[in-house]
Amino acid sequence: MTATAKAIPVPTELDRPYWEGASKHQFVLQRCVQCGLFSSQPRIICPKCHGSEFEWAKPSGRGVIHSYTIVNQTTSPGFNDELPYVVVHVQIEEEPTCYVTANLLVERSEYDKLDIDLPVIVDFEDRGEVTVPQFRLA
Ligand SMILES: [Zn+2]
Repeated sequence: MTATAKAIPVPTELDRPYWEGASKHQFVLQRCVQCGLFSSQPRIICPKCHGSEFEWAKPSGRGVIHSYTIVNQTTSPGFNDELPYVVVHVQIEEEPTCYVTANLLVERSEYDKLDIDLPVIVDFEDRGEVTVPQFRLA
């Protein structure tokens, strides 16, 4: 299977800037204008200050593994050739309450080294017409 057989994210009006940034290999997240809270899921009301004005900003792309799993079975046929693969929940450097879920691009020989709090950095996977933010070990 080719990389294009993987599921292709479909941007919505709320998250379109995230995908447009990724297409330029830029990691952007929604940030509250009032309090600066980064959020990995676009919101209409800030959960911290209840503000309703947001911007799209570029965090560093660095973070740490908050949790991870090694996927050995998948229901997504496009990922069959990559089994086993790693999915991480990354705590971004700028905001301890902001987590981004993505694949960890890592060699199988390094799976034994995986642990929580390991530093990671964003990377990008071009998947057909869409580019998907992923992470690598930093
Ligand atoms: Zn806020």
